[in-house]
Amino acid sequence: MKTIGILGIQGAIEEHEASIRRLGLNTLWVKGAEDLKKIDGIILPGGESTSMGKQLEWFGLMAPLRKAIAGGMPAFGTCAGMILLAKDIEGSTQTRIGLMDILVRRNAYGSQLDSFVTDLKVKGLKAPLPAVFIRAPRIESYGPEVEVLASYKSHPVLVREKNLLAASFHPELTESTALHRYFTEMI
Ligand code: GLN
Repeated sequence: MKTIGILGIQGAIEEHEASIRRLGLNTLWVKGAEDLKKIDGIILPGGESTSMGKQLEWFGLMAPLRKAIAGGMPAFGTCAGMILLAKDIEGSTQTRIGLMDILVRRNAYGSQLDSFVTDLKVKGLKAPLPAVFIRAPRIESYGPEVEVLASYKSHPVLVREKNLLAASFHPELTESTALHRYFTEMI
């Protein structure tokens, strides 16, 4: 059976875990490099991307994680997780995994108080996908290998590039497991 790792540093770890468990798959909180050997794919939850990046370095996890993902391990970044995957972050030199050919702008949808929920039409999914935006990043531009799976107000908010999937929003904070299923089918 597939085991989905969830980066166990901060953010909505339990919620992602619950979504994956509802699909009947194993989960493992990834806290050290040795955990990477036990998983088939990894979810990078939301949180605070600057602090997550620093902690990845402190735990000695940044280099091995980058190597595993660059080597083809499927990775799904949500919100701050998307920022960690991005090659380019507008106006920031913060440390990142940096493997996805997207340019993101942090907090582009406003503050915590501006959080909102909307239904997205997603390529490949039949039903509309409920999406929770919390201090979400916006994708300002993207490379030729990046496929846009959903947009909100003409900006992409769900994108895929080979083994990488990234969402500006939090799919784990809704009842829908459709996007988690999509990710596990990439494995
Ligand atoms: N604004 C946060 C950041 O820049 C992301 C917010 C979130 O993950 N909900 O890291």
